[in-house]
Amino acid sequence: MLEFDTITAISTPMGEGAIGIVRLSGDRAVETVGRVFSGKDLTKVESHTIHYGKLKRPGTDEVVDEVMVSIMRAPKTFTREDVVEINCHGGIVAVNRVLELILEQPDIRLAEPGEFTKRAFLNGRIDLSQAEAVMDLIRAKTDRAMNVAMSQMEGRLSRLVRELRQLLLETIAAVEVNIDYPEYDAEEMTQAIVEDKAGEVKRVLEQLLETARQGKILREGLATAIIGRPNVGKSSLMNTLVQETKAIVTEIAGTTRDTIEEYVNVKGVPLKLIDTAGIRETEDIVERIGVEKSRKALAGADLILLVLNGHEGLTVEDEALFEAIAGMNAIIIINKTDLPQSMDSSKLEKLAAGRPIVATSLLLEEGIDALEKAISNLFFAKGVESQDMTYISNARHIQLIKRTIEQIDEALGSAAMNLPIDMVQIDLRRAWDTLGEINGDTVQESLIDQLFSQFCLGK
Ligand code: GDP
Ligand code: ZN
Repeated sequence: MLEFDTITAISTPMGEGAIGIVRLSGDRAVETVGRVFSGKDLTKVESHTIHYGKLKRPGTDEVVDEVMVSIMRAPKTFTREDVVEINCHGGIVAVNRVLELILEQPDIRLAEPGEFTKRAFLNGRIDLSQAEAVMDLIRAKTDRAMNVAMSQMEGRLSRLVRELRQLLLETIAAVEVNIDYPEYDAEEMTQAIVEDKAGEVKRVLEQLLETARQGKILREGLATAIIGRPNVGKSSLMNTLVQETKAIVTEIAGTTRDTIEEYVNVKGVPLKLIDTAGIRETEDIVERIGVEKSRKALAGADLILLVLNGHEGLTVEDEALFEAIAGMNAIIIINKTDLPQSMDSSKLEKLAAGRPIVATSLLLEEGIDALEKAISNLFFAKGVESQDMTYISNARHIQLIKRTIEQIDEALGSAAMNLPIDMVQIDLRRAWDTLGEINGDTVQESLIDQLFSQFCLGK
């Protein structure tokens, strides 16, 4: 095990939670809390036990907080070091007071962002893909996204990567052995071996990439644009989705002042509603930002919700919007079904080109469940939910997998061209290295530092 100093940080989100947790990790963790804890002698208690008491500033009678303290001795802890968690009253002030008290004690310092997880990694408790999953878990926006991060943390991706690397090693070995049997045509044999074994690795990696898109959606939210003519009900739809779906996660101001992203959870699909200034402020995407600009806004969307007015029927502008979203994932919404209808349904079906059509009255709150079902069907119908699937949801992993596939392709090409066997082996070796970077088996220090610095403080 590596030697580290003792660190501490608040490990619950800042805000008005019912409890807050201050966590310590390192050799001095138990002793440090013991200095300020009045209750049992914490240095004598059994590991993995919880104790009630008061935190007092040493040398005074000042009670800082009433707390529950968990003592967890190495190595069966998250960091594999001694860990103490102080459960104190929630709220920024109370938690900060406890943290301050701890930091007043000797030989303890504030943890850097991600440092607890980094220690877990450096002490061999988790590998890099698991560490990244911790980060995803923190950011997970819905239950489903949480499951993806959980299964990654449990090491599914790590296991698969290890198996595939093993298969690549076997390929390299088989090619090597094959040179020693001159009675066979070595080049031909090499080609057969590489195609069989490395080809299999490539197929599995390609399947993984297919799941990446869903993984990305679960992690980042499905970029969704609500479009339509003025007054068809775009704002009403936005408001309905925001109110209906219980778990609105955040409202984050985007990079530009005019862009707001709202996350809503529609039956487990996290939608990132892109509300461009054009849609939100002026009510008229076509007029205000113009067809050209709206096309641009659409280009970044994974899903379009095109709202039509069932009362007025189809207009030339509607047809222009259909043209703008040709070939894109879309759900067509006929709104205002509470009013007399004049929609030309055969024309609409042609324009919709097989994409789902849902009728709603946003005014009467009708058809909303059908709309939500249509959204979730679009993304979960194809067995995406299947539990035994290993998702990759991380841009770094995707990039490494793509690169591994390229390197396997090079090996396949070299073998097919009957190039010297060393050349084929070099390609395979590269693929083996690249794949290893996912778990951090072949990763450089600088990358590790950069990755862990992205964590929230206290994780
Ligand atoms: P936007 O311009 O597309 O954003 O449309 P709004 O959401 O601002 O709605 C325009 C008007 O249509 C408002 O007066 C809404 O109350 C009304 N409206 C929205 N949905 C319905 C509906 O389903 N039925 C009826 N009758 N009116 C609606
Ligand atoms: Zn509006």
